[in-house]
Amino acid sequence: MALISEVAEKIYEIKPEGREHEIFPLCTVYLVVDDRIALVEVGSSVQIPDILQAVAKLGYDIQDLSYIIPTHVHSDHAGGTGHLARQLPRVKVIAHPKAARLLADQSIIDRMLQSRKLVFGDDADKRFGGMLAIDEDKFVPVDEGAAIDLGQRKLTAIHTPGHDPNHLCFMDSKTRGIFCGDALGGFFSESNSRALACVPGSDPQLILESMRKLLQFNPDLLFFSHGGARADASRIIQVALNDERRGADIALKALQKGANNEAVSRRLAEILARESIFSAEELLVFPYFTSLSAEGYRQYFNKKHMIS
Ligand SMILES: [Zn+2]
Repeated sequence: MALISEVAEKIYEIKPEGREHEIFPLCTVYLVVDDRIALVEVGSSVQIPDILQAVAKLGYDIQDLSYIIPTHVHSDHAGGTGHLARQLPRVKVIAHPKAARLLADQSIIDRMLQSRKLVFGDDADKRFGGMLAIDEDKFVPVDEGAAIDLGQRKLTAIHTPGHDPNHLCFMDSKTRGIFCGDALGGFFSESNSRALACVPGSDPQLILESMRKLLQFNPDLLFFSHGGARADASRIIQVALNDERRGADIALKALQKGANNEAVSRRLAEILARESIFSAEELLVFPYFTSLSAEGYRQYFNKKHMIS
């Protein structure tokens, strides 16, 4: 059973049960209720029963869902979209035009699931569930500045490449909160721990640019997809910016000296431990927190011929 709470006016957080940093890479999803209802993120397909239960418990009918809005194509955010959309004949899926093309193609999805196994192990399909392509006519492709009208509130798309090239954040006009997906990495309030936004396939320069862009919106709230809602938005974006800048710097220097991923992870954990209740050693024990970022930096700097 998921944990359900209203984190802002008619915005309900649906979070898988367990300690925040331990349920990663499962995703926190948000039900936004207005004249029309939207679901921001679906998470992995294993999360769908929780979502159905939560929606019913809150007194809504899942068949009244107008929009499913995965912030980007990664399977821990968009994984369950195809399964859920097939159960809802009237629902539309909001995505960046390029993300929509990827999510409509089962052969591309199958390749994504193959690479998921490399990161999360051979049993990833079993642990997180499969991923189904979405019919092209289900999509409403949106890009920078497009507004999704829910009635009394609008969700405005902000293109935030870096973590993923086709990543969108959405600003809610009613609460001035931003659904930030993975653009700012993860933020786990219980332990005051961050996960960096850089993963394999990321562009660290674009991550910084997108973070600066989000800062310009001066949001009152942030709705993290890994972690939950936070009110000290500007401060958190600033912390994320500093961590990401230092992370990229330190990773590049270490990699240029021939450090392996384990050594890079250790340096990244030292950065993240400064604000966390966990020590660097403890952060290193959590799977994916720093190892994914270390590999992300290695792949990026390699592609740019900045390391050999
Ligand atoms: Zn992601």
